Amino acid sequence: MGNRIAISFLFFTALFLLLLAYFLPQSQSMNMAAEEVRNSSDLKNGEKTMDKDMEKTEKPEAGEKDVKWDKMSDKEWREKLDENSFCILRQKATERAFSGKYYNNHDEGVYKCAGCGQVLFTSDNKFDSGSGWPSYFSPASKDAIAEVRDTSHGMIRTEVVCSRCKGHLGHVFHDGPPPTGLRYCINSAALKFEKKSDMKDEARAEGKTAEKIEAAPKDEE
Ligand SMILES: [Zn+2]
Repeated sequence: MGNRIAISFLFFTALFLLLLAYFLPQSQSMNMAAEEVRNSSDLKNGEKTMDKDMEKTEKPEAGEKDVKWDKMSDKEWREKLDENSFCILRQKATERAFSGKYYNNHDEGVYKCAGCGQVLFTSDNKFDSGSGWPSYFSPASKDAIAEVRDTSHGMIRTEVVCSRCKGHLGHVFHDGPPPTGLRYCINSAALKFEKKSDMKDEARAEGKTAEKIEAAPKDEE
């Protein structure tokens, strides 16, 4: 009987020690895991505050990129533009009819903004209005221009500005030819014409890739 008790005592002690050996490292590793989580969350907080700091330092630069053309001062524009273009683009002046260089231009090419260089109109959308100002029945793209209600000179007109630099271009009227019935009456001095044959190979290459991009979704369909 005494032997039996001693054996079972030893057995249970051994079992207890085994269990202890099994659970002790686990509880330690659990503690470690909990600590890791705590550390990583600290790290994340650290990252967040670092991000905030980076935002603070990067924001002015990013802002300048986004609104570069809007933020240019009159002084900067004067340095960039000739007197005529400055008065029209930045001060909403109008050139005399038949005085501009593009009203009678029939060459193929694109008309860019004289301020920021954004493509505004193409020779494909140009027509002879007889008004003495270059006239187009539509812009090169809807995004290229913006419209502003203009009540100056006792008239209600729709002013047309470059969407990027907000430079004054002219006005749009509803007496144009098909297919739009619109007449974009634009000052020559607000534009810079780029003849198709003079267009750089880079621009042509860009045009080709743009065509490819446009064509790609059609192929998928
Ligand atoms: Zn512009």
